[in-house]
Amino acid sequence: MLLLRKIISWLAVFVLSANVLHAEVPDTSRLNPQQRRIASSIEQMSEPELILLLDSLFDTDGKDTILFVMINRQLDTLRNSYPKNQFNDGFAFFPGQRFYGSWNTKMLFPYPDSLYKADTLIELDLSPAVSGPFVYPFNGTFTSGYGWRDSAFHRGIDIDLNRGDTVRAAFTGMVRFAGKQGGYGNVVIVRHYNGLETVYAHLWKIKVKPGDIVTSGQLLGLGGNTGHSTGTHLHFEMRFRGVAINPAYIISIQERKLHCEKIALVRTKQGYAVRPHNVVYHIVQRGDNVTKIAQQYGRTVKDIRTFNGWDGNPRLKQGQQVRVVPPTENGTR
Ligand SMILES: [Zn+2]
Repeated sequence: MLLLRKIISWLAVFVLSANVLHAEVPDTSRLNPQQRRIASSIEQMSEPELILLLDSLFDTDGKDTILFVMINRQLDTLRNSYPKNQFNDGFAFFPGQRFYGSWNTKMLFPYPDSLYKADTLIELDLSPAVSGPFVYPFNGTFTSGYGWRDSAFHRGIDIDLNRGDTVRAAFTGMVRFAGKQGGYGNVVIVRHYNGLETVYAHLWKIKVKPGDIVTSGQLLGLGGNTGHSTGTHLHFEMRFRGVAINPAYIISIQERKLHCEKIALVRTKQGYAVRPHNVVYHIVQRGDNVTKIAQQYGRTVKDIRTFNGWDGNPRLKQGQQVRVVPPTENGTR
């Protein structure tokens, strides 16, 4: 239904733009103040933002023709700036296009290292406007975390469930992969508009197919025990360009909600480190200790320990980064 609406809205844009495109510069003098405000921000918008704006304008029955044309032009400009790529499976638009350049529905993680090496810092917008309201994929008991486990690296988290339980999309996006694949068993991968991918493995039944647009909370499949799995559970991963990210950095597993809505992925030797957007860090200098840093930022020692997840006071190394403001205090929520 959503896809249909998207197609209709695109058709509307083409028809509308054909009529107005002759004017070299859209005449914005007829716009009301609110429309003018939107018009002035169009050039700064990313593709997902433009698509969402387009969708919201479509509901106004085409009263904003000038805005439609401006958005369409900006989308053209953005798309012409992307590297030339192979649009597999006939998709001319797919989520996270600027980070990937291709859409592969046959392989779990087709991304070469070169993609991953290209950037050092990527900002991810997880706010409802871009990603839909976050939904915990299944409200079951957390049974296993990300990291080394029995001499193998576990690239996701495990959530206990019974066969047939509803597994839901964590964010809005498009299904990129849905099928059976080795140890993952029946697995669904959803690409989100910010470029993040979420992975839902060991499903009993898959209820979506590649290309489906899913909204957060939508049914993807039924929980099960397929692939390399002992006991029914959901194996859930978060990845960017194929590189796994510890979901606990993004979601509070205890509270089953996001730590914060805007995060920055920072490339490290091992993968991506996740930081709340705009979080404040102190770089440890010679002679610093936790008490001194706490005083410097008007915090208590206990605060600093909490922000950094420390049980006691660790020995600080010069150049180390110490979090001095919690994620909730810098306007990211
Ligand atoms: Zn697992």
